[in-house]
Amino acid sequence: MDMQTSFLDRLFEAGLLIDTGIDGLYGRSGQFEEVIAAFERLIDKVGGADGAEAMRFPPGMNRAFFEKSGYMKSFPQLAGTVHSFCGSELDHVSLLQCMEVGEDWTKGQEATDIVLTPAACYPLYPTIAKRGNLPKTGGLFDLQSYCFRHEPSKDPARQQLFRMREYICMGTEQHVTDFRQRWMDRGVEMMKTVGLDVTIDIANDPFFGRAGKMLVNNQRDQNLKFELLIPITSTANPTACMSFNYHQDAFGTKWGLNLEDGSVAHTACVGFGLERIALALFHHHGLDVKEWPASVRKTLWG
Ligand code: ATP
Ligand code: ZN
Ligand code: MG
Repeated sequence: MDMQTSFLDRLFEAGLLIDTGIDGLYGRSGQFEEVIAAFERLIDKVGGADGAEAMRFPPGMNRAFFEKSGYMKSFPQLAGTVHSFCGSELDHVSLLQCMEVGEDWTKGQEATDIVLTPAACYPLYPTIAKRGNLPKTGGLFDLQSYCFRHEPSKDPARQQLFRMREYICMGTEQHVTDFRQRWMDRGVEMMKTVGLDVTIDIANDPFFGRAGKMLVNNQRDQNLKFELLIPITSTANPTACMSFNYHQDAFGTKWGLNLEDGSVAHTACVGFGLERIALALFHHHGLDVKEWPASVRKTLWG
């Protein structure tokens, strides 16, 4: 049995994660949720004085916005769409027959106007563009959402439905890159206060296909993505628990996000992987929260 399987099995045995029969789709215990809630309060405390505007979107987004985002160009392998039965009574009869004999009944499902949100910030850009030009001070937003990615895995840190807490900054290049640097420093500091050793490294997204290789190179050459890494399932390959992304003016141009003077806004976003952070805490301090170091408990629960 490899390391990954055994940590997942220990989480199941402790009841922290609940097996649904699908890799990467888990229930969470009250205790697991308490850790996430406590860590989110810590995020609120650290980021609170910045005055971000909080918004919460459901884990599904407008399909038209998703299409315009270009997600299918970059990550078709990860996307999840919502389909429904839209047929007649006759279609319903054949649907049920199909299920009865164990044939593929999903073929007749039709796409709805909703797709599963791939990253918490995706619904934000078109929402803000609709408001008109950004004020002189730019924009700062606080989001949290369940996100879907079709990447089934036995690694408990790679789930198909997981929560991302994000801060998104819009403004000049200097403004948003300062924001990103500030959160890199804060992220390292926050993890220290909960007893986790971290490293920051340059990163890239898994852009699909041969054309994607070019996007990977560009992302790395231009330092567009950094990750805060913590060993969870492997010390050789630590897990990204936060990411720090600078989009240059790509989203500003795509969505028509402009600053007060009419120039295109630059954007950056900082994401906390909430399940991964909880898993890092359980991995480092043990599966019983009562046994965690007093300093860590104090940071999380006062
Ligand atoms: P990875 O390289 O591990 O696939 P990522 O680069 O795809 O991560 P981002 O797209 O930057 O991750 O998402 C922001 C944060 O969401 C990540 O830093 C991570 O903490 C979390 N995250 C991403 N994918 C998953 C997943 N499948 N399960 C749980 N958390 C995830
Ligand atoms: Zn984002
Ligand atoms: Mg990924």
